[in-house]
Amino acid sequence: MNSGRCHCQSVKFSFKTNENSFSFICHCNDCNKINGGGHLTALTVKLEDFSSSGKLSIYSYPGGSGENINSHFCPKCGTPIYASLKAHPEVIVLRANAIDDSSDFKPQKSLYPEQAHSWDITTIIQK
Ligand SMILES: [Zn+2]
Ligand SMILES: [Zn+2]
Repeated sequence: MNSGRCHCQSVKFSFKTNENSFSFICHCNDCNKINGGGHLTALTVKLEDFSSSGKLSIYSYPGGSGENINSHFCPKCGTPIYASLKAHPEVIVLRANAIDDSSDFKPQKSLYPEQAHSWDITTIIQK
């Protein structure tokens, strides 16, 4: 789990995780809508541990805290690659969908499970 690309392969990236990387599933209404599915799957990566090639477009929208979330995606195929927050410029939220081999991706928590669609079965029971 250290490289990835968008669907059309215009955007490629590499990254490394560390002990503070947080893996999660988000069921909030914004993530459901933007991802065209039941949830977002993502993990946090330090910006300095991430590099990409290829053009990315940015879509900004107000997140739950009122802080703008910047979604970085491939302008050609639309694959979401990562999100960034102005309040936490040192960290990005990398989309697990774009990782080449995500077999060792293990979400630690479900966020906003109360907003999950009833047909989405991925909600993790919080311990
Ligand atoms: Zn693409
Ligand atoms: Zn969300």
